[in-house]
Amino acid sequence: MRRKLAAGNWKMNGTSDALAQLDALRKAHPTPGVDMLICPPATLISAAVVTAADHALAIGGQDCHMNETGAHTGDISAAMLKDAGASHVLTGHSERRTDHGESDEMIRNKTKAAHAQGLIAVVCIGETLKEREAANTLDIIAGQLAGSLPDVLTAENTVIAYEPVWAIGTGKVPTMNQIGEVHDYIRTKLEQRYGAGVGTSIRILYGGSVKGSNADEIFAVSNVDGALVGGASLRVEDFSPIITALENA
Ligand code: PEP
Repeated sequence: MRRKLAAGNWKMNGTSDALAQLDALRKAHPTPGVDMLICPPATLISAAVVTAADHALAIGGQDCHMNETGAHTGDISAAMLKDAGASHVLTGHSERRTDHGESDEMIRNKTKAAHAQGLIAVVCIGETLKEREAANTLDIIAGQLAGSLPDVLTAENTVIAYEPVWAIGTGKVPTMNQIGEVHDYIRTKLEQRYGAGVGTSIRILYGGSVKGSNADEIFAVSNVDGALVGGASLRVEDFSPIITALENA
């Protein structure tokens, strides 16, 4: 059985007053039936870890550098995230791929760096609208999986997030058949590459305009083991119904 995961990505949102949302989140779900993760901005990680102490709520980074130290102004290493108390890190979010020109190779190296520090990497993949309209979705997914994942990983240190780029922050959601097709395909690819044991156990999240109002139907799709949520993770009244829907799925 794969334990479900409700993950929130706050992106470049939140100053210290946002910690009240984390506190409210832990109080709303004192003994959650699913894993919970929030990835706040790097400036809030240490304080978020303190706020989430003694609760199952995990705190993660939104990106890490592939190197442990060095002359990389503005970057953060996996070792630094670990030191700040993070347990997870997103790698390959489409906004990093687009805004910072991150290639599959860079993302693979960042994922390796996360693993080397004992962090759980949430590796993000997904097609653009142009790629979907050209009927290239599965080829793009196959390429990103092949390029962004290291040859050696475990079901404990790796989570995949399928996030169609055109669904992120747009309010547009693929049909449940489209989500199911891609998640089943990812599962097959993981089993082929890593064997039935690991490939069957890696969690696959869906991300892209998940809300309380569509969470039930998304979580009923095969091989959807949770969600990576952007906008709706910022406020407890929006994120909490998604967590509850996942608990009931
Ligand atoms: C995301 O940024 O990973 C995301 C899924 O955003 P949103 O939920 O706002 O579409």
